[in-house]
Amino acid sequence: MTETGSGTGGAAMTEKRGNTCWVQCPKCSAWHHVAPDLLRSTHVKMHCPSCHFEFFAAEAQAVIDP
Ligand SMILES: [Zn+2]
Repeated sequence: MTETGSGTGGAAMTEKRGNTCWVQCPKCSAWHHVAPDLLRSTHVKMHCPSCHFEFFAAEAQAVIDP
């Protein structure tokens, strides 16, 4: 048997939706979704589709990371 980690949740967490992260632009306060990977990489800037401002995840006004 190849069972690794029996307490990680599994099934319920692998639905289609559920890994959409949201950030709020520090400039215009618009919400837009970003890839989870992008949120976690501190050296990559995100781009606001509303005002075209670029900012790091740490600079976001608010973040929703489910
Ligand atoms: Zn913006």
